[in-house]
Amino acid sequence: MSLRLYDTGTRSVRDFQPRKPGQVGVYLCGLTVQGPPHIGHLRSGVSYDVLIRWLRRTGYDVTYVRNVTDIDDKILVRGEEQSRPWWSIAYENERVLAAGYAALGVLAPSYEPRATGHITQMTDLIADLVERGHAYVTPAGDVWFDVSSWPAYGELSHRRPEDMLSSPDAGSKRDSRDFGLWKAHKPGEPADASWTSPWGPGRPGWHIECSAMARRYLGDAFDIHGGGTDIMFPHHENELAQSRAAGLGFANFWVHNGMLNLSGTKMSKSLGNTLSVEALGEKGFRPVDIRYYLTSAQYRSAVDFSETALGEAQAAWDRLNNFVHRTAESLGAETTIGGALSPEFTAAMDDDLNTPAAVAVIHDAAREGNAALDAGDDAAAARSGAGVRAMLDQLGLDPLDPHWDDPGDAKLSGAVDALVKLALEQRAEARARKDYAAADRIRDELAHAGITVKDTPRGPVWTVD
Ligand SMILES: [Zn+2]
Repeated sequence: MSLRLYDTGTRSVRDFQPRKPGQVGVYLCGLTVQGPPHIGHLRSGVSYDVLIRWLRRTGYDVTYVRNVTDIDDKILVRGEEQSRPWWSIAYENERVLAAGYAALGVLAPSYEPRATGHITQMTDLIADLVERGHAYVTPAGDVWFDVSSWPAYGELSHRRPEDMLSSPDAGSKRDSRDFGLWKAHKPGEPADASWTSPWGPGRPGWHIECSAMARRYLGDAFDIHGGGTDIMFPHHENELAQSRAAGLGFANFWVHNGMLNLSGTKMSKSLGNTLSVEALGEKGFRPVDIRYYLTSAQYRSAVDFSETALGEAQAAWDRLNNFVHRTAESLGAETTIGGALSPEFTAAMDDDLNTPAAVAVIHDAAREGNAALDAGDDAAAARSGAGVRAMLDQLGLDPLDPHWDDPGDAKLSGAVDALVKLALEQRAEARARKDYAAADRIRDELAHAGITVKDTPRGPVWTVD
């Protein structure tokens, strides 16, 4: 079996075939950087990271583009509110966003274009649409996409024209469904939020940004386009309509991730402060816990966030983490390198990235490995250890990846290591002089502190419960 993905465009799971053999072009709509991101915003980046890693594992040469929307009404409003340049707010939040992705182990995309760096590509595309009769210019200098000129409109979201609401800034447009390609500069807006164009000074609308940047980096047609289900309409519908109307092939697959909900409602931007990677860290949740939590849900499912659920994910992750460390400590870290993915894991991933099933396969392998370690079957334990590590690595969750090391933890575990080693040496000395009462007392004291000692042919090994 090869990779099958759910395509929103056809509402079906389809065999994934790239347009060009061996090469895959992927575009993910990045965030609008008007505020700091919370983990709900980061979910699409994590979901796509799992997809990109799987495509690369499958052998594809992947070009992955994830943009940054750094000009937008909301960014201008924040600038006004805080009496700061709008672009300083965009840069600041982009930094926080990059740090959040890095903390969660999300690999950098091939290209991360900012909208403001691609105004020429946008105005070129808009000019094409005007020339082809799919867009019109108003006397005020706004340019609108003419939805009535494109009968396929609604093909992605499967909405009927009568379901489409008119937008509040309907002012100068002919039809309430028409959307803005170019927004004329308005009095009172910062002068540096305006660029020259054939229709006068102004700035691009949100939707045209992605069509222009996808074309710039991936060509007129590419393989996979996506983002959260919340931007499927109108954003993706509009991207699709304008790109096709301009004669471009655009995306072959539309892959949308589900939302992270808090008490059943979509997280709002104001939660950024309490549900950021940093704020959750202050509550004892490590970045790796958050990544495991987001990854163990299938990307299309809605996830109802709760700290209880995150705590359960943390405990599940710790079981895998403990197994890999136990194997590395008992048998040597080198025995955990170069493991194979089990066929069940591969089948789960090929099945529209069924990560809950893939994670269940990893837990089964860890249980078998723990049993093998208990039984002293080193060969079987090493095989399980290497397999578990390889599968976790595929999900960006390798417990021995230094990325997940907490410098504080490393210091502490070094100190604990030295103390336990000292106690075990004293126990060995007591045994050597046949003082078994003293030897047992040392073992019991360690057990009292949550440290279990097991005697093996290679000497004592210990684990922290
Ligand atoms: Zn987009």
